[in-house]
Amino acid sequence: MTQTPERNASPKKAGRGNFELDEHLKAYQGIWVFIEHEQGEVHPVSWELLGEGRKLADKLGVSLSGVVMGAAGLPTRRFCEESFFYGADNCYLVEDPVLANYRNEPFTRGMTDLVNRYKPEILLLGATTQGRDLAGSVATTLETGLTADCTELNIDPDNRGLAATRPTFGGSLLCTIITKNYRPQMATVRPRVMSMPERDTSRSGSIVEHSLGMIETEIVTKVLSFIPDDTQDKPQLPFADIIVSGGRGMKKPENFQLIWSLAKVLGAEVGATRPVVQAGWAELDRQVGQSGKTVRPKLYIAAGISGAIQHRVGMEGADVIIAINNDPNAPIFDFAHYGIVGNAMTILPVLTEIFKQQLAVARKAG
Ligand SMILES: Cc1cc2nc3c(=O)[nH]c(=O)nc-3n(C[C@H](O)[C@H](O)[C@H](O)COP(=O)(O)OP(=O)(O)OC[C@H]3O[C@@H](n4cnc5c(N)ncnc54)[C@H](O)[C@@H]3O)c2cc1C
Repeated sequence: MTQTPERNASPKKAGRGNFELDEHLKAYQGIWVFIEHEQGEVHPVSWELLGEGRKLADKLGVSLSGVVMGAAGLPTRRFCEESFFYGADNCYLVEDPVLANYRNEPFTRGMTDLVNRYKPEILLLGATTQGRDLAGSVATTLETGLTADCTELNIDPDNRGLAATRPTFGGSLLCTIITKNYRPQMATVRPRVMSMPERDTSRSGSIVEHSLGMIETEIVTKVLSFIPDDTQDKPQLPFADIIVSGGRGMKKPENFQLIWSLAKVLGAEVGATRPVVQAGWAELDRQVGQSGKTVRPKLYIAAGISGAIQHRVGMEGADVIIAINNDPNAPIFDFAHYGIVGNAMTILPVLTEIFKQQLAVARKAG
């Protein structure tokens, strides 16, 4: 698509920090979420984004839509119906044989054609392999702004724009980015950053069908076979209900065993900070934070962890955070729900023993 002079037009200033939207930008309305699926399963991040999209749409007083692309034979209509259960008012469905598997070219064409025709003001995608690949090419094709890996989404009350917050300068700061002059405003969000909305099967909506108009010979990429990622034996941190994490304050690898002991008693996963992973006390798959996993457990126990922003962005969505640190001024106490000031090497074995006894009593009581 070529950029029209209209799209380049600069916004008119309307007082302090306020921008009046150009007329052509006002034509863009509504919030869309890309419903990502693979091998017949929708990625849960799509439902998380619909939950967040619902809140944004209600603030703006606009509709929320899902976008499903796929081929006949895939349960695409069921995906549309599911999108209603998670908050969408309607769902755009593009079906074509070339959309049987994810490939950048046909999915980019499908999404950009839809955007050019129906003009949403906000388009959200998961920061997954597929979502990142698609978001980049859609944003460059449409010549619009994309904020990647957001940790928070809001509506700017000054201009009704999307205020997309993400870590910056190596994670030492959080910045909020607003796409003022271009539409749609695009953002990607990692799985588990947003909470999963309730699935409400009483909700319904309308499916808007759209054709693709692309043939196989136009597409350079071919899918030869599908080889599943063998992750069964790897830690599943993002989906764990309880995580016990250790940091540099555990001092040495032998002490890190105390984290494992408590995790075992609680049936929890073990997490770690980056210095711990770099020291080789835990595998990379256990790193929580900006350059590791984002987690959202019911309980997160952090021992010997300072609470640096790069760690915090990966775990602050936990329902309950318990911090154990011998420094009462450690930053983690600013956002932990419960804090224990003391030596982790003394406190962890005590907690492990108490939980062991309590669980034994509970089991006996049936
Ligand atoms: C680009 C970039 C990306 C990054 N990504 C990540 C990431 O994904 N995840 C991540 O974790 N970090 C990440 N980091 C590193 C991050 O900045 C911090 O350095 C790191 O989180 C600190 O880890 P820590 O809390 O284990 O160590 P420290 O900051 O050294 O904290 C150790 C804590 O242990 C406490 N302590 C010491 N002794 C005891 C004791 N006996 N009992 C109890 N407490 C004790 C201390 O008071 C201190 O608060 C990243 C950094 C950059 C620049």
